[in-house]
Amino acid sequence: MRTLLIQNGQLLSPVNGYRGEKKDILIRDGKIAEIEDSISAEGVSVVDASGCYVTPGFIDIHTHCYPKAFLGLEPDVLGLKRGATTILDAGSSGADNYEDFRRNFIDKSRTKVFTLLNVSKEGLIRGHELDSMDKLDEAALKKTLEQYKDNIVGLKARASASVVGQMGLTPIAEAAALAKETGKPLMVHVGNYPPALTEVLKLLGRNDIVTHAYHGKKGGILNEEGGIISEALEARERGVLFDIGHGVASFSLRVFEKALAKGFDCDLISTDLHVENYEGPVYNIASVMSKILNCGNTPEQVIHKCTCAPARHFGLKGLGELKTGYTADLNLITVDPCSEEIADSIGDTVMLKEKITVRKTVYSRGEESEIFGESSAD
Ligand SMILES: [Zn+2]
Repeated sequence: MRTLLIQNGQLLSPVNGYRGEKKDILIRDGKIAEIEDSISAEGVSVVDASGCYVTPGFIDIHTHCYPKAFLGLEPDVLGLKRGATTILDAGSSGADNYEDFRRNFIDKSRTKVFTLLNVSKEGLIRGHELDSMDKLDEAALKKTLEQYKDNIVGLKARASASVVGQMGLTPIAEAAALAKETGKPLMVHVGNYPPALTEVLKLLGRNDIVTHAYHGKKGGILNEEGGIISEALEARERGVLFDIGHGVASFSLRVFEKALAKGFDCDLISTDLHVENYEGPVYNIASVMSKILNCGNTPEQVIHKCTCAPARHFGLKGLGELKTGYTADLNLITVDPCSEEIADSIGDTVMLKEKITVRKTVYSRGEESEIFGESSAD
């Protein structure tokens, strides 16, 4: 479809000044052509957005969508089917297998997929991908980054005991150095000690990202007294971003609530969707957003953290905003009162008082736009 009118929706995109204003959006040739109080419906297909907020399409910066790697699922199962119009694969592929991922999955999916290339050349094929420095092929990594700079928007490294084995902090230090040298943001997965989070944080600089920042494992961002560790405060001061990365074992509601009470909110919201959590406890990005909303964020904050914030951070041009000339990827969502108990990844729960549901997704690629129905959790 080339022309489409989204009528009567309340726009929600704080960076563009929309905080619930009722406006119409005209889409032409895959782009947002006009945003006005009222646009004539004559001769165009209409989507009635009455009762819905209209937001930019959601961008999920942490998924595993390379099915040949550990835990991976098809991009469209984790993206469009779950209300995210753009997803990032977080390190499933490395220099050895990126081309296969690109050719057979990224280029064949409908969902827009960008890549955080694993610093380990093997990606997540076997796990323990950084237990030997032989797996870090600097020349191959740089060549892949250069050749595919249209798609690779950052690097990924996992700093957990099971991944680095006896190598400790060494591969993570190397990853941080490579990120600085190549000018790419590094997403670091933090988990079980060693290496210690305090040491990992000291390595990170402006634009790097800590994913699983609010995990409930030992040695996290809270100190013994329940305050924020000084290394995390200093990292934020330097421009390091803190991401949810919910996952199957990496998000604790209680840790997040305590951090929030100390003013240490998340900068980004992502799912870490993969084969072991897409049927729960993660489900989809709206479900993770609902948890963050109920912990005390506003709807404007949660929308910003998975639209404009990731688009600007990773330089995803034309995405993440409600602005003329931008790609017409939109979600029609509702924020409904509810009383539903929902669990984090360690079994703690929160009683949802409000729930975000994606009712429709308008997705554009090239000059064509299409409409998807309610994104399901299965
Ligand atoms: Zn992950």
